[in-house]
Amino acid sequence: MFSFSHYLEDFSHLIFPLSCPGCNVALDSEDEVICTACMNDLPLTKYWKRMDNPVEKLFWGKIKIERASSMAFFKKGNKVQKLMHELKYNGAEEVGYILGNRFGECLSDSDLSNVDVIAPVPLHHSKLKKRGYNQCDSIVEGLAEVMQKPVVHQAVRRLKYNESQTRKGVYDRWLNVRELFRVETPECFQHQHVLLVDDVVTTGSTLEACAGAILSVPGAKVSIAALASPAPY
Ligand SMILES: [Zn+2]
Repeated sequence: MFSFSHYLEDFSHLIFPLSCPGCNVALDSEDEVICTACMNDLPLTKYWKRMDNPVEKLFWGKIKIERASSMAFFKKGNKVQKLMHELKYNGAEEVGYILGNRFGECLSDSDLSNVDVIAPVPLHHSKLKKRGYNQCDSIVEGLAEVMQKPVVHQAVRRLKYNESQTRKGVYDRWLNVRELFRVETPECFQHQHVLLVDDVVTTGSTLEACAGAILSVPGAKVSIAALASPAPY
């Protein structure tokens, strides 16, 4: 089981001297990982309050998703982009955990809180070996702590190393779904509403493929949560 102290312990070498990964300002004693100014300043999408929001629209006509939302907008050089970069490439899993906590609070009074289990989009095993961690795992743990939901790890396997190509046709998408992910333990998802979690959603093609694999399990439903999506401005 992950915990905040676990992250602090394991990643202390990366966060000392303590500075905010969003703005590089020194943290004071009350701050946890990200400074209060950055936390208060997150450009929240509020998509969780909005049916038919732009993240949900990515999946229209492609795959049946219950609800989908991102938490904050990223754009080139903004704080959210910096935080996502630290999480994905610099081992800052504590950033994923803290933002997962925050996202969980956002989702608490939305339809997205009606899920049964939470699962990360998996990495291909060779990528996992190279990076050492899946950047989605800490987000999932942070969400699960606040939402009080069980986490399902490693029930889905990523079969291909490369990101999926943007494919247009129905048959291509069907192939994409078949080729990219496979559910290894379907019993984890049977008759479950799954909250599928990624760090960033842009085109939605990877999430579409992963959700498609989960939806092949009888009675499974999928909602989607990603920490960041592109700013529409
Ligand atoms: Zn900051």
